Amino acid sequence: MEISRRSFLKASGATLGGLFLFNGLDDKAIMARSLKKVPLQQKVTESTTICCYCSVGCGAIVSVYEDGIVKIEGDPDHPINEGALCPKGLAMSQIHQLDGKPNPYRLTKPLYRAPNSTEWEEKSWDWMLDTIASRAKATRDSTWVASAGRTDGLASFGGGELDNEECYLLSKMNRALGVVYLEHCARI
Ligand code: SF4
Repeated sequence: MEISRRSFLKASGATLGGLFLFNGLDDKAIMARSLKKVPLQQKVTESTTICCYCSVGCGAIVSVYEDGIVKIEGDPDHPINEGALCPKGLAMSQIHQLDGKPNPYRLTKPLYRAPNSTEWEEKSWDWMLDTIASRAKATRDSTWVASAGRTDGLASFGGGELDNEECYLLSKMNRALGVVYLEHCARI
């Protein structure tokens, strides 16, 4: 019988699983969940994902129990990281929750700050996308350099979390718009 690295780790980790399952929860949350006496192996679901932080793109396994993440670990079968995660990747669950509760600082809706305003307003995605598109077009039209087929009025600033395919699309879109100031945070 062929045993993959992942299935070996799953089998050998089963006895220790209960101990580590609640890593990241506070004592009260662990106690409350333990008292329910539910067979955890039937309640915890695992999903694979890609770390959202940088373009290395490490693979991770997320264990979810009820409505909370109980553990995030490196995916041993992922060809890039082979089970390892750096501290940022290991802290990925904090995007979703802090101390076992939903992260109150997480933005879930688009926020808009008007020019010269200090206040943020909640807007719909439709409003946001229409506004960005119409302002980008107005800026492009008013700064278009016809002789060179370019605009000096727009710039694009990419981030390390963009993957290969996203970088390709972003670069294509900007070139099509005539953007020449196309940069990436890692170079700055
Ligand atoms: S932040 Fe760390 S864990 Fe996440 S993809 Fe980059 S190297 Fe991997």
